[in-house]
Amino acid sequence: MKFCPKCGALMRPKRVGGKSYLECPKCGYTEEVSQDQPAYKIANKIKHTNKEKSLIVEEGSEPETLPKLKDVVYCPKCGYNEVYYWTMQTRAADEPPTRFYKCVKCGYVWREYE
Ligand SMILES: [Zn+2]
Ligand SMILES: [Zn+2]
Repeated sequence: MKFCPKCGALMRPKRVGGKSYLECPKCGYTEEVSQDQPAYKIANKIKHTNKEKSLIVEEGSEPETLPKLKDVVYCPKCGYNEVYYWTMQTRAADEPPTRFYKCVKCGYVWREYE
C-alpha cells in the first residue's frame, strides 16, 4: 500500500505494457513500480555476550567452608581484615583464573585485578 505523495490518496496498482505502475485515482499521479524490489534482508545481529566483562556472582553460592584469609586482604567497603577467597575461570582456559574475595563481615564480593 502506498499513498500519493501529492494528494495523499491511496494509490492503485496498474499494469501498462508489462510494467507495473501505481496510479492515484484522485489526481492522476503515476509512479513506476520497480520490478526488482530489494528483498528484505533480516540482519541477524547476534550480540555476543562478553564473558570477560560480565561477571556473575550468585548470591549465596559461596559455601561458608571457603578458605579464609586474615590480615592479608582488607574489605574495600568496611575494612574488615578477614575475607573468604576462591578462584573462578572467567576468561579463556589458557588464562589464569580470577581470584575473588568476599568480606566475612559485610559480604561484599570483589575480584582481584591484575
Ligand atoms: Zn494524488
Ligand atoms: Zn566488608
